[in-house]
Amino acid sequence: KLYNTVQDLKGSIRVFCRVRPLGTTGDAAPSCLSLGTESDIAMYDKSGERKVFRFDRIFDGYSTQTQVYEDVQALIRSVMDGFNVCIFAYGQTGSGKTHTMTGSCVDDTEGRGINFRALDDLFALQAKRDSETEYIITAQMLEIYNETLRDLLAEEQGSSNRLDMLSTQPTGLNVPGATQIAVATTHDVLDMMRVGARNRHSAETRMNERSSRSHQVLTIIVDGTNRLTGARSHACLHLVDLAGSERTDKSGVEGDRLREANAINSSLSALGSVMHSLAAKSKHIPFRNSKLTELLADSLSGHAKVLMFMHVAPESSSVGESISTLNFGTRVA
Ligand code: ADP
Ligand code: MG
Repeated sequence: KLYNTVQDLKGSIRVFCRVRPLGTTGDAAPSCLSLGTESDIAMYDKSGERKVFRFDRIFDGYSTQTQVYEDVQALIRSVMDGFNVCIFAYGQTGSGKTHTMTGSCVDDTEGRGINFRALDDLFALQAKRDSETEYIITAQMLEIYNETLRDLLAEEQGSSNRLDMLSTQPTGLNVPGATQIAVATTHDVLDMMRVGARNRHSAETRMNERSSRSHQVLTIIVDGTNRLTGARSHACLHLVDLAGSERTDKSGVEGDRLREANAINSSLSALGSVMHSLAAKSKHIPFRNSKLTELLADSLSGHAKVLMFMHVAPESSSVGESISTLNFGTRVA
């Protein structure tokens, strides 16, 4: 199968933006942005110049997790109709990516992010939809750090959880060794998230703030079988919490830090190029330029829907990073 073409790219790439509330990270700087309508955001750069960006949907600091999910729900549900769906959370460290994707896990239903809500929603659909079709939902959780893939759900963490990819698979899953867990209840999901978080955390003690320097990819696989005809369907939902997009000042940085910064830079720009080529319906999509785009190649081309969820911090101290995030979002739309 040739996956470098997008002959049958269905649906478009949509771009949302979420502004986190002022001051949640302890930064006392004043705000440098103003929100116009539901789709306009204006930033005032260091010289006071006003720059306006337009996206499909903008959420301000008062938007709740429930409100955000309402606008994502239709996309999530299309997985049941056989679409592969990718949702990327993009932004500098501290801009709210993990809040949107995972949110809080402990006995706080409103605080829960897209990952939990998506699974709950799929369980509900699974239970009530067309009783002719039996759906099985499984999940895998991977991390890409310095262009190396790790299995966050493997029992044994260490060198054995490094994974390799196959070039391409028609199923949209190209990491054959990855641990897959069947999930059927919210309880299963919480357990799984805890394992993933613990494994990420154990790596963190060795590498400071590793979670902000790696991409986390939660993949939810929906397999359907028609009980009468035996017809099968298969689709993947990829929920990606990207590494922080901040540009590291490379002067005086060396060794691991420099390698990390270079890996993040090159994989985020590879993602930008792939999105741009998909949006422009180019013949050749440069999937092979990074592990992340290679991992998701089959889910980005073909029967796919993509959401880029840009995250910005409102403080004037972050204005440079915020403008670069918003530029990224504008370029891929
Ligand atoms: P990132 O994953 O991009 O590094 P986080 O999601 O960890 O950022 O957010 C940084 C901090 O701001 C966290 O303490 C988080 O709880 C808080 N935060 C982020 N977005 C929101 C929001 N929309 N509402 C309330 N708190 C938020
Ligand atoms: Mg995070």
